[in-house]
Amino acid sequence: MNLCVVGTGYVGLVAGTCFAESGNDVVCVDIDERKVASLQSGKVPIYEPGLEELIRRNTENGRLRFTSDLTTAVKDSLVCFIAVGTPSDIDGSADVRMVLQATADVARAMPGYRVVVLKSTVPVGTADRVRETMNANTSHPFDVVSNPEFLKEGAAVDDFMKPDRVVIGGNSDRALSLIKELYAPFVRTENPILVMDNRSAEVTKYAANAFLATRISFVNQVANLCEKVGADVADVRRGIGFDRRIGHYFLFPGVGYGGSCFPKDVRAIIRTAEEHDSDFSLLRSVEDVNEKQKHLLFEKVRKSFGDDLHGRKFAVWGLAFKPRTDDMREAPSVVIIEELLAAGAKISAHDPEALAQAEKVFGNRVSYERVNYDTLEDADALLIVTEWNEFRRPDFKRMRRLMKTPIIFDGRNLYEPAEMRQEGFTYYPIGRPAVVQE
Ligand code: NAD
Repeated sequence: MNLCVVGTGYVGLVAGTCFAESGNDVVCVDIDERKVASLQSGKVPIYEPGLEELIRRNTENGRLRFTSDLTTAVKDSLVCFIAVGTPSDIDGSADVRMVLQATADVARAMPGYRVVVLKSTVPVGTADRVRETMNANTSHPFDVVSNPEFLKEGAAVDDFMKPDRVVIGGNSDRALSLIKELYAPFVRTENPILVMDNRSAEVTKYAANAFLATRISFVNQVANLCEKVGADVADVRRGIGFDRRIGHYFLFPGVGYGGSCFPKDVRAIIRTAEEHDSDFSLLRSVEDVNEKQKHLLFEKVRKSFGDDLHGRKFAVWGLAFKPRTDDMREAPSVVIIEELLAAGAKISAHDPEALAQAEKVFGNRVSYERVNYDTLEDADALLIVTEWNEFRRPDFKRMRRLMKTPIIFDGRNLYEPAEMRQEGFTYYPIGRPAVVQE
């Protein structure tokens, strides 16, 4: 099938590449000409495991192309995916202007029947607005299918190739059959394609992210309670996770959720509920808890070192909002580092993939190290903010030798407190008993 994907970010680039990998002819379109030029020259502008290799293979065999010429791309494609951003507006609602702009561009370019597929995360009712925009810009027939994306950054290719389920919403059998055909190679192990109306598909995406965010805020509050009462959240988490109604996933306490999806999607569904006079106070609490949680690690630092951190140096491991990505959007590391800087501290930071993105955020206010140990020289303490695998089994003896004082504030509970005691560290995890060396 010939198809185009409008918007080549984390979602569009992965979707386009995976559709090409399954034998389709795909044109990826972006208005960012620098991004397009970089992709055309074989440079992938984002870090996503496995993606570069797939892009190379599919561009070499001619099934995957990149362009900023939307008109030609739409002419050649029966199906047009819209995968542009839907950032938060000032009132928290999802800003769908880029979606409607891309829709209008597609409508004006199409020479005949086209299927427009909404892959961006969009608030309920957007498919109807897209239909109106299409009608205002073309007299050709079209169908609008909602197809929210559930991939996780850091595992995006795998998630796209082996989705738990595919959700498609629409009212045209012809269009729904085409999209089912496109997804057939990815659902060969009984993972279902769920067909519903547009509105239900739109709500499904927000409900999924809001539920996952709720689990995180829930376990974060359980962790905070554990700290107060002298319990260990690692045991509590296992104790509840073996209940099959609960499960183990998404029950890891930490420094709060971030990224380009959970915060904005929780805000957007709250706004949608307000607009429709529907009570969703639960999600307001989820959001409040998350905001507070982002300050927790700094609070622990303050308790140990006091308000004035001038003359102190802190090492920070992990800057991306989660491991295996370079994405810094709404990353808890930003809140934590800004608070440390404001209190006068010096920061030496490391992340395996996000240093370039981090530099865009902090500039020269932070020093960056390619090797994690290099952050530790003369450091008063280490803060662990993102749970990259390479931080799980470090050389503790080497760390102790480098640091001024062997103190770790672990925002991701990577280590066992008993081992930290043996290794001579003062260790502050989340929701677990702290280890303080005499
Ligand atoms: P992104 O910001 O990384 O990429 C969006 C791209 O669209 C940019 O490259 C931008 O230049 C391009 N663009 C904007 N307007 C355009 C236009 N008119 N024509 C052509 N290109 C245009 O965004 P993303 O992270 O890929 O997210 C895209 C959508 O998918 C959002 O709605 C997001 O909520 C949703 N989503 C994201 C994820 C994720 O993990 N990032 C997961 C599921 C769903």
